[in-house]
Amino acid sequence: MVQTQIAVEGKKFLVTGGTKGIGRGLVLNAAAAGADVITCYRSEDESVASLVRELKETPGDHHVVRADVGEPEGVRSLMEEVRTRFGRLDVIVNNAGVISHIPYANLALDEWQRILDTNLTAAFLIIQESLPILGPGASIINIGSKSCEVGIPLRAHYTAAKAAMVGLTKSLAKELGPQGIRVNVLAPGVIVTEAMLALPPDQLEAMKVRYTAKTALARLGEADEIAGGMLFLASDLSRYVTGEVLHVDGGIT
Ligand code: NDP
Repeated sequence: MVQTQIAVEGKKFLVTGGTKGIGRGLVLNAAAAGADVITCYRSEDESVASLVRELKETPGDHHVVRADVGEPEGVRSLMEEVRTRFGRLDVIVNNAGVISHIPYANLALDEWQRILDTNLTAAFLIIQESLPILGPGASIINIGSKSCEVGIPLRAHYTAAKAAMVGLTKSLAKELGPQGIRVNVLAPGVIVTEAMLALPPDQLEAMKVRYTAKTALARLGEADEIAGGMLFLASDLSRYVTGEVLHVDGGIT
């Protein structure tokens, strides 16, 4: 029989980049589903205080820590926190991501490196450091992007990093599968975030019109809808799913 209850209760989650955007939705939904969650961020701003407040009102053992996962030192301090607070991990969601829009001719090596450091190298380091505390049944979820399959001008560095995340995921699925550890990509389409809503009204409107037209469901996505995919991949409902890319994108092309 299929167990229909989404079983993440009591599971220990690490979600990187959880103060804003998609990550915030992932953290709040995991906590609301009964998981214990550690998340991290870089910038001290109101989003941190408000997340801490919201998590205090949600039962469970939750922690919001400052750690820049784009730096090996930041990953080390984050993992120290995870080991001290939780001692084990059941679910890792590599969500922290950065993007910029730069013509390829002007793309500086530093900027290429910055985008790869947070979008790709952070996942490599976090997964490697987590191996000793990941048990059988653990699930690693790497947040990808539809954009790496279709390509987008001015985002060669970002889409290269996201495409590499798929290769990392598929190889690790085979390497870690015998230990009962699953590894998948969760690939959002265009999701409404605070950063998007902060765009000038004309740019926001143009963006909505452009991407709505490309999307089968004729609307942009919500962070809670990405959380639905995460809860599936985190739980035993997906216990025979690994090395996959789960698109949660409203059918965008
Ligand atoms: P946002 O910019 O809205 O939020 C990013 C979050 O990650 C913030 O909490 C930010 O904290 C944190 N973060 C960024 N860099 C670091 C870092 N080096 N160390 C620690 N925390 C960090 O991003 P989105 O929600 O839009 O994107 C989340 C993920 O989803 C990314 O991987 C992105 O590539 C992917 N994605 C997003 C799509 C979308 O439409 N929004 C579409 C497809 C994929 P702080 O501000 O403090 O740095």
